[in-house]
Amino acid sequence: MNHLITGLLVAAMVCFIMGLRAMSRTHSARRGNLISALGMTLAIIGAILELVRLEHLAMTQAWIILAAIGLGALIGIPAALRVKMTAMPEMVALFNGFGGIASLFIASGEVVASGGGMTGFTASTAFLAMLIGGITFTGSLIAFGKLAEWIPSRAICFPAQHVLNALLLLAVLVGVVSFAIWPEAQWIFWAAIAVAAVLGIMAVIPIGGADMPVVISLLNSYSGLAACAAGFAIGSPLLITIGALVGAAGIILTKVMCKAMNRSLGNVLFSGFGSATSSGGGGPQGEAQSLLPQDAYYVLEAAQSVVFIPGYGMAVAQAQHAVRELADTLAANGCDVRFAIHPVAGRMPGHMNVLLAEANVSYDLLVEMDDINPSMPTVDVAVVIGANDTVNPAAVEDPESAIAGMPIILAHQARQVFVLKRSMRSGFAGIENPLFFRDNTWMIFGDAKTTIEAINGEFKEG
Ligand code: NDP
Repeated sequence: MNHLITGLLVAAMVCFIMGLRAMSRTHSARRGNLISALGMTLAIIGAILELVRLEHLAMTQAWIILAAIGLGALIGIPAALRVKMTAMPEMVALFNGFGGIASLFIASGEVVASGGGMTGFTASTAFLAMLIGGITFTGSLIAFGKLAEWIPSRAICFPAQHVLNALLLLAVLVGVVSFAIWPEAQWIFWAAIAVAAVLGIMAVIPIGGADMPVVISLLNSYSGLAACAAGFAIGSPLLITIGALVGAAGIILTKVMCKAMNRSLGNVLFSGFGSATSSGGGGPQGEAQSLLPQDAYYVLEAAQSVVFIPGYGMAVAQAQHAVRELADTLAANGCDVRFAIHPVAGRMPGHMNVLLAEANVSYDLLVEMDDINPSMPTVDVAVVIGANDTVNPAAVEDPESAIAGMPIILAHQARQVFVLKRSMRSGFAGIENPLFFRDNTWMIFGDAKTTIEAINGEFKEG
């Protein structure tokens, strides 16, 4: 029995490491997910068998746990199948929150079971698991509410916010030291849960607009750190390993995203970007010129090089298949076709890659922002499909803009720019886009899929 359990737990750890590795590449990501799911199954079976072996769990309790897992699956599977691609960040936010509260429960269980007789090490790690888990839980719920627009998605700031946060942080630091010294004073632990919950809310409300993806990634990292601390508290090498993997992966992704937006993590967390006072960008900047799909056809038909720049609107319109068809037609017409991919286009990292892969667009045609930008001035037509913030020239030209310094795809440098969107409304960051008013830009109003299909229709007739 002992060897079987150790074998299961080691196999689970190997699955998690291999799964994470496979997830780092688009073509193997799906396999990575399956390997990680297998790892989780082995981990659950191993953990239950271990508890039974130690006689911490009666067989009836083991069945209750399995029934609870079944119930969770009954809720989780339909939810995962039904969730729209555009609502993935909300779903990830909820997952992070559940991860956080699970660690909080593990730590609380350890505190209750110990009856105050813990070592200083166990007390402090249980406290940290509770603290980070609590912050992750309430922070993730706020992030979910903002992304789902149940609460205002802008940054909410008020006077003395940083002072209040600093005081709360000081309170929990005093709490962790005190609890490590006096583990029998359990009230410190229970009182700190409330402080952690408030801290989670306070940490996320001042973040808004385009910074939300970074926060989701950071909360993901927190949920891993909370699990890691819980693993130390209960002496579970498996939990420590998984927690460390999630914590490290989350923080690496956070760093990559901050780099893509040319922001420091401190600036994302504390600058109040996207609040009413810092939205920037000014009002409308002139008259935008518009074009019909039929006219766009003549230009595209004659173009030697076309770069498609997809954004969130392509996901909303589900235009990827129509776009692939247009790309194929243009390529057959002798045109050089490429897709420019911004690292934070859409609503989750890799969003555009996933959509284009679904439509069977060859990976070879996908070019990252840094690689395509130098060649943008030589491009005949840049076709912006539902992208907005990620092509906003204010980021590179207007130091006063709220997104100043954020790297963008330099669509405005192309000889001609077609912007496919439904209206003049702003994008996720809520700021005006001067690209729409440039002399070389033509707006093609309407749902992106309908517009592209109309152009495809013209090519067929032509
Ligand atoms: P934006 O959110 O800036 O703009 C999307 C545009 O799509 C809107 O202006 C909208 O204009 C248009 N649109 C919506 N529906 C349709 C439709 N059916 N047909 C045509 N157009 C449509 O998108 P970007 O991809 O450029 O930028 C992503 C933003 O989201 C960035 O600010 C990023 O920081 C943020 N973000 C990114 C995440 C990530 O990890 N990738 C996660 C969360 C946020 P209109 O209404 O006029 O049609």
